[in-house]
Amino acid sequence: MSEFSFELSEDQLQLQKWVHDFAEDVIRPAAQEWDQREETPWPILAEAAKIGLYGWEFLAEIMMNDETGQSSPVAMEELFWGDAGIGMAIMGSGLAAAGIAASGTSEQVMEWVPQCYGTADDIKLGAFAASEPDAGSDVSAYRTRAVYDEASDEWVLNGTKTWITNGGIAEIHVVVAVVDPELGSAGQASFVVPPATPGLSMGQKFSKHGIRASHTSEVVLDDVRIPGRCLLGSKERLDARLARVREGQPNDRQAAMQTFENTRPIVAAQAIGIARAAYEYSLDYAKERVAFGQPIITKQSIAFTLADMATEIDAARLLTRRAAWLGKRRAFVNAEGSMAKLKAGRVATWATERAMQILGGAGYVTDHPVERWHRDAKIYDIFEGTEQIQQLLIARAISGMRVE
Ligand SMILES: Cc1cc2nc3c(=O)[nH]c(=O)nc-3n(C[C@H](O)[C@H](O)[C@H](O)COP(=O)(O)OP(=O)(O)OC[C@H]3O[C@@H](n4cnc5c(N)ncnc54)[C@H](O)[C@@H]3O)c2cc1C
Repeated sequence: MSEFSFELSEDQLQLQKWVHDFAEDVIRPAAQEWDQREETPWPILAEAAKIGLYGWEFLAEIMMNDETGQSSPVAMEELFWGDAGIGMAIMGSGLAAAGIAASGTSEQVMEWVPQCYGTADDIKLGAFAASEPDAGSDVSAYRTRAVYDEASDEWVLNGTKTWITNGGIAEIHVVVAVVDPELGSAGQASFVVPPATPGLSMGQKFSKHGIRASHTSEVVLDDVRIPGRCLLGSKERLDARLARVREGQPNDRQAAMQTFENTRPIVAAQAIGIARAAYEYSLDYAKERVAFGQPIITKQSIAFTLADMATEIDAARLLTRRAAWLGKRRAFVNAEGSMAKLKAGRVATWATERAMQILGGAGYVTDHPVERWHRDAKIYDIFEGTEQIQQLLIARAISGMRVE
């Protein structure tokens, strides 16, 4: 097992350059158009698939074949440096793939994960549907029901999911539903809804503040009947787990929390990509823009802002890389994944706002990408656990108390 090091291996440096080149050559030139269209950028996904950047193999490569944990944050930072909306369109299917991998058997992973991506000639999407209109942060309040029909060996799903990335346009929907309402979050299970299953439809498609190239909508489940084998894990394992919980034995909640801690550095690295884009752009601008006869970077207040931006982005990156390394070892002590996500979200929102300030009027208009980056950044304080939920997790970890 390697010691923690910030030094990237030769392979990781190549990965970084490969993703960066795609972000620079393909994503950046298309970013404004897809932000304005507010649609999934299918041609960009096709380009990404052609080179192997959109596909389950890419995800497997950066997530599994790397004992240092550094490959995924490195790749994410570059991708989202290109554009966060398109970045999310490329990575959104990974949420479904991760949901399948977290609860599914290896046969289920082999069957369903590739279907979340399709092929380079026939691109497909995956969606992970957990949040509901009345239950976002409070995951114990989900109401979508899954009822087992023994006679037909089918599960019947009913409910409404909301804010779902790729919702209603995905080939594969992974749905979290309640199988035993008495047990709160312990009474939930995850299901795969196969392509073209009757009863699953797209509700409202949301028009968003940022990451607009990523599709977000409601998913309505109306008597959706799926085969028994679509329960992720197995019925036997689910029944055994529910029996343990009913007897008051500890459930796998600790393991589930570790899984979420593991994905947070990946999300944090996306936010850092946006922050870095805004920092680099405003640094260049400050060197060029002349006011009162001097480039504005010679004004201490502008230069100090840039110094703070560089420092904060570095701090967020260091937390993120450390969390990714700890995650590989299942060695979190004080919710370090949450710390990375909390810091990176705040830094992205703050740094993009400061970049707008450095650009002045140019920061406020769509001729420059900085206003878009600022709109994109804000989501990192909200999804994958809000700022306050990260604080809650850190507070519980450092205190060992049930902070509410
Ligand atoms: C663009 C986008 C894409 C998304 N993609 C997906 C997806 O693919 N799949 C999916 O399942 N979900 C997705 N989500 C949902 C996202 O994860 C939720 O929006 C998020 O978890 C917050 O839930 P909520 O919106 O219901 O806010 P709420 O939970 O209602 O929170 C509202 C406010 O109250 C605060 N709050 C809540 N509880 C506490 C507490 N205990 N202590 C202190 N403060 C608290 C929150 O921090 C927040 O500020 C997406 C959301 C967006 C906007």
